[in-house]
Amino acid sequence: MQVWKDYQEKNKERFLNEMLDLLRIPSVSAKSEHKRDMLKCAEAVKESLLKAGADKAVVMPTEGHPVVYGEKIIDSSKPTVLVYGHYDVQPVEPLELWHSGPFDPVIKDGKVFARGSADDKGQFYMHVKAMETLVQTNTMATNIKFLIEGEEEVGSPNLGKFVAANKELLKADVILISDSSMLSMETPSLDTGVRGLSYIEVVVTASGRDLHSGTYGGAVANPITVLSKMIASVHDENNHITIPGFYDDVVVAGAEERALINKAPFNEKEYKDEIGIKELWGEKGFTTYERTGIRPTLELNGIWGGYTGEGAKTVLPAKAHAKISARLVPNQTSSKMTELLLNHFRSIAPSCVTVEAFEHHGGEPYMTPIDSKGYKAASKAVETTFGKAPIPVRGGGSIPICSILEKELGIKIIFMGFGLDNDNLHSPNEKYNIENYYKGIETIPYFHKFFAEGN
Ligand SMILES: [Zn+2]
Repeated sequence: MQVWKDYQEKNKERFLNEMLDLLRIPSVSAKSEHKRDMLKCAEAVKESLLKAGADKAVVMPTEGHPVVYGEKIIDSSKPTVLVYGHYDVQPVEPLELWHSGPFDPVIKDGKVFARGSADDKGQFYMHVKAMETLVQTNTMATNIKFLIEGEEEVGSPNLGKFVAANKELLKADVILISDSSMLSMETPSLDTGVRGLSYIEVVVTASGRDLHSGTYGGAVANPITVLSKMIASVHDENNHITIPGFYDDVVVAGAEERALINKAPFNEKEYKDEIGIKELWGEKGFTTYERTGIRPTLELNGIWGGYTGEGAKTVLPAKAHAKISARLVPNQTSSKMTELLLNHFRSIAPSCVTVEAFEHHGGEPYMTPIDSKGYKAASKAVETTFGKAPIPVRGGGSIPICSILEKELGIKIIFMGFGLDNDNLHSPNEKYNIENYYKGIETIPYFHKFFAEGN
C-alpha cells in the first residue's frame, strides 16, 4: 500500500536509530549483574510501544525478569494478533572475537553489528514500527497485542506460568513470531515448525576400579567396548533408528509438504564445502532438508572414559560415559521419548556391566499447518513484498515455548522470521542486515491486512 510505503520511507532513519538505541542496553538475561539493564530495557520497550500508538503498555513482573505487555485494540469484533518476541540477549563472551563493542552498534556494509540485532530486538522491533505505520496511516485491520519476554535466552522458566495466569489478557486469534531466519532474500521462506528435544546421559560400569589391562584384559568386559556396541546398535545400515517404538508417534509428512520443502534450492557442493564434510550422511529415502526438518534424529554429543592423556597407558577402565540426544518431530513428546531412550539403553546392556541412565532437559516439537489462515496471510504478505511466494521450511532447532504458548492459549503460531542463517546468533559479531529490517517492517502490515481479510 502506497500510504505505508510513503510513511515508512519518510521515517526510515528514525526507525533504524530507535532500534540502535534498544541495542545499546546490555540486556543479558543470564547474568545477575545485568538485572538493572533488564529493567531498563523492559521500560524502553514499554515506552516504544506507547510511542508507536499502543493504548496500553506495561512492564509486568514475573519471578525472574519482567514481561512487557502492550496492546492496541480497535474493535473487539476484529481478529487479534499476538506478537511474541524477547528483549533479552545472549551473553557476549568471548569478547575478544568481536570487531566492535557488542552493545555499541556499528553499521558496516549495510549491516548492524550488535548483540541482539537479529535475535531478537531488531526482529521484534519491526513489529513495533509496523504497528506505528498502521496507526499513523489509520489502516489497522486487526487488534494487536505484544508479549515481549526477558527470559527466552535462559529457557523461559517463568513464561508458562505467566501465560497461564494471563490467558484473558493474551487472548488472540494467532501468535506471530519473528525470531528465525529465511533461506535468503532471493528465496524467501517461512518456518513451519521446530523440532523437540530429549537428552540423556548413560554411564556403563564394568568393574569397581580401573584394572591392569595385562592382568585382566581378555577376562573382564571393557565398558567402552560395551557402550560403543550399544550406541552402534541404534542405527541400522540405512541410518534408520532401531530403537523399538522410536518412530511410532511421528506424523509422516505428506507428498505435498515434502515437495514444497524440496523446492528450496540446495547446492550439495557448497553445503559440503562450507562445513568441511566429504559426503552427505543420513536416513535413507530422505533429502538433506527432510533429514534436518521432518525426521527425528539420534545424536551422540560426547563419549568418554579410560585414559585420554598424553602417551600410552594400558588400562581396563571401570566406566564409560555418553551424552545422547534426540531431535523430535510432531507428534513425539519429549517425556515419552526420554523414557523410551532411558529404558532402551538400560535394557540392551549385557549382564556383565551395570548401566545408569538419567535425563537432562527436553522440549516439545511444534508444527504449524500451512493451510491455516495465519500461514496463508503470512505467505501472501511475503509474496507481496518479495515478489515470490515463500517456501515452507521446517526448522531443525528447538524453541520449547512454542508448545507452551499453544497449549495455554489454544491458538497457532506463525513464524515470520527475516534473519539469515549467517547472522551469527549467539556468536561474536551478531548482525542484522538493514535491508532485512526494512523488508520486515514493509511486510508485517500486509500480514495484518490479509489475516483480517481471511477471517
Ligand atoms: Zn531469539
